[in-house]
Amino acid sequence: MNDTIAAIATAQGVGAISIIRVSGSEAFSIIEKLFSNKKFVAADSHTIHYGYILDGDEIVDEVLVTKMCAPKTFTMEDIVEINTHDGISTTNKVLELLLSTGCRLAEPGEFTKRAFLNGRIDLVEAEGVMDLINAKTESASKMAINQVGGKASSLIRDLRDNLVGILANIEVNLNYPEYDDIEDITVEKIKVSMGDLDKKVNKIISESKNGELLKNGIKTVIIGKPNVGKSSLLNNLIGEEKAIVTEIQGTTRDSVEATLIMDNLILNLIDTAGIRKTDDLVESIGVEKSLRLIDEADLVLLVLDYNSELTSDDKKILSKLDGKNYITIINKCDLDKKIDDSDLKNTVYVSASENINIDGIKEKVKELFNLEQIETSDYNYLSSARSLAILNQISNAIKEVNSGLENGFTLDMIEIDLKNIWNLLGTIIGESYEDELIDELFSRFCVGK
Ligand code: GDP
Repeated sequence: MNDTIAAIATAQGVGAISIIRVSGSEAFSIIEKLFSNKKFVAADSHTIHYGYILDGDEIVDEVLVTKMCAPKTFTMEDIVEINTHDGISTTNKVLELLLSTGCRLAEPGEFTKRAFLNGRIDLVEAEGVMDLINAKTESASKMAINQVGGKASSLIRDLRDNLVGILANIEVNLNYPEYDDIEDITVEKIKVSMGDLDKKVNKIISESKNGELLKNGIKTVIIGKPNVGKSSLLNNLIGEEKAIVTEIQGTTRDSVEATLIMDNLILNLIDTAGIRKTDDLVESIGVEKSLRLIDEADLVLLVLDYNSELTSDDKKILSKLDGKNYITIINKCDLDKKIDDSDLKNTVYVSASENINIDGIKEKVKELFNLEQIETSDYNYLSSARSLAILNQISNAIKEVNSGLENGFTLDMIEIDLKNIWNLLGTIIGESYEDELIDELFSRFCVGK
């Protein structure tokens, strides 16, 4: 049986109320020893009770205590939550009393780990909880909530179910060929199923990568020739959004120099000329360097001048942008038009100095990274690098099956690869798992979660 754990579940600091969470089979008996309200013992589940936490005869705090009986709780164990006053000292005192009365201090993530081990949530949902705790933007929390809600998990389960269907069919065909009423499994049929699986897995991979950018930030570079208005534009974006600009001393070429939180998007600006620019020092990025930066970036903001013609350098850079996420920002639209924009794509016309259409840039970025789509429920997002790595393995395993089918492998050989894919899908949601991995995963949570 699990021991009973306790931890402060709210952020530590000065505040009106803190919550201490206790989970385990002794949760109620421990609290009964410390709580003045004797009605608690016989109280119903999911009820809240007023009273004092006592240290002998001494009142430690006036509290509200929630009683939640197993299994309808987060950990599926008996849970008590104590609302204490004061952020630090009283709460710590109550926690100390709990620890000296039979609780053990919870390890980071241990409540969530118990929820997982007791079958309340699967691994993907647990990772969602972690993401939710760490979400920096609304879109990141939306994605996490989707994951906690089990949407991604049920998608993986569906893929697994489909595979079981094929596997069962192969088994019957191999082992009971005498049954005529069983549908014959043909190479063509497996190919069709693999094509479908491949499409779905790749959709999850690409949306997860996209989601990753939304969660951790989009590596962004602003390029363009001197005087097109890069720094004016950056200042405008920064000023308007009250961005967090964190200049890192002695940055190297590929380090992040500023983080700009723009609506729901985190833009990590890399090596951006203009951030450190002073009045008398005009830093500009040469073409060669721009081309290198394009390779490293997830998003390129190319700034051009509405009031001047395209140069050969501009054209060189433009030709490198095919297949990248980029926005062609045509600045100085308050002046006369001299640029030939007939071949330009992904354009936004702005004026940094006159503050015209800066929002247009944000809209374009949202469009590029499918931000609107995340708001809908059709987003197949798995947040962890762990899941993504497994999905890539699955994608490769599907290729193996396909090449096996092309090369005339027998059904029993194909079956081995299919079982492998089925297992890998299980690993994502934690249906086959290693203890070490579980410990590692949950240790990344905070105490009390
Ligand atoms: P950078 O070298 O690309 O960083 O360009 P700056 O931001 O330093 O801008 C170069 C010059 O263009 C400055 O004199 C700005 O005031 C001016 N400028 C920037 N944006 C605009 C704009 O939208 N309209 C006009 N008319 N001038 C602008």
